[in-house]
Amino acid sequence: MNERIQRIERLLEVTRNLGPALDVETFLQSIIAVASELTDSEAASLLVSDEEERCLRFAAAPWFHRETLRETRVPIEHSAAGWVFTHAQPLVIQDVARDSRHYKTIDEISGIQTRSLLGVPLLFQGQAIGVLEVINKAHGAYYTEDDITILETLASPAAMAIHTVTLERRLKKMSQELAELDQMKSDFIAIASHELRTPLGLILGHATFLREMLGENHREQLDIIIRNAERLKEIVESLSNVENVQSGMARLRRRKVSMSRLIEEVTASFQEEAQRKGLTLRTEIQREGPPLDEKDDLTVEGDATKITIALSNLIKNALTFTNKGGHVFVTAERIPGYVKVSVIDDGIGIPAKDLPRIFERFYQVESHLTRRHGGMGLGLSVAKAMIEMHGGRIWAESVEGKGSNFTFLLPLDSEQAAAARRFFS
Ligand code: ADP
Repeated sequence: MNERIQRIERLLEVTRNLGPALDVETFLQSIIAVASELTDSEAASLLVSDEEERCLRFAAAPWFHRETLRETRVPIEHSAAGWVFTHAQPLVIQDVARDSRHYKTIDEISGIQTRSLLGVPLLFQGQAIGVLEVINKAHGAYYTEDDITILETLASPAAMAIHTVTLERRLKKMSQELAELDQMKSDFIAIASHELRTPLGLILGHATFLREMLGENHREQLDIIIRNAERLKEIVESLSNVENVQSGMARLRRRKVSMSRLIEEVTASFQEEAQRKGLTLRTEIQREGPPLDEKDDLTVEGDATKITIALSNLIKNALTFTNKGGHVFVTAERIPGYVKVSVIDDGIGIPAKDLPRIFERFYQVESHLTRRHGGMGLGLSVAKAMIEMHGGRIWAESVEGKGSNFTFLLPLDSEQAAAARRFFS
């Protein structure tokens, strides 16, 4: 009885000290050392299931066999450990010579002749994920119920540790695969857009030349070729724009930019399209002081080309998703530290369920097959990338059937941009 209490005390002491501070390998080695000590066994080992190869592998074994056993696979079908694993129950074999379940190859590899054996499953959420095994109880004694309890007690933290490691490994593998896929996608986009640019430039150049040469003859057909080649060129530019920002290739060239002028110019470039579609397109810029006062010209330190791309994409969408007779307003004002620009329309709006995702790449509200409008779902992600490069923010509010309001904030200068980045990160 006294000996029993001593063993339980030792078990408690050991499990308490087997803290998470240890790395998993050391932790599992400690488990098997304690398992053989407390069950009076010659050796102990820990096996985990390898689902792909349908076998068990050694996760911990006596140090003098570790290297040889690391590569050894124990079959699930013809081994005592496999039996414990598939039945998820303890197994005691008091005389291995009379039981065919023991996998003899291990004895040949380790040089230890197994006479008796006890194995318990490593259970995680009721499922066996491995086996903890001890062999050869001292002086030819039989394994007892107490030995089973001891092994089961040790098996539970071991199962936990193995499960955590397996999850970590899986996560690492998945994130590696994701990174590889992402790289492949970036390479593909970079190559495709580069390869498309030259022939597209040639098509546009020659078609424009032909249009000049032929005068009114075939003008309609040539206009169609030119318009569609230009559309293709825009798509290629959008693709490489998002890609460049995401891969960190894009650089911001900050200069003083008059936002009121930029907004007027960009809006003017869409007037013809708006008229063609029967839409009203207007700007409302709030200047507070005399028009030539730099501050009231809504000046920011930014990259005019990139801001133009962002604003153009918003206006383009507003014109696309607003029905004939509708209105599109581009408003701008100064707020502390920022210039705030909004593109507001009274068009078809965006369903609430789609709103959180519209800035994602390739996201479109209508499916590709049913939609009436062109586009690749890139416009907004490009706009977002361009604004965020400046340390700005962009968002959308919308009510389906009533209209949408896309707003972005641009920091007035790089100091403000740096402060905003610190704040938002
Ligand atoms: P696309 O170039 O395909 O239009 P965007 O990224 O610019 O892609 O926009 C994504 C989707 O968001 C669009 O397909 C459209 O469904 C929706 N959307 C964008 N702007 C508006 C808007 N002003 N009104 C209604 N829906 C819009």
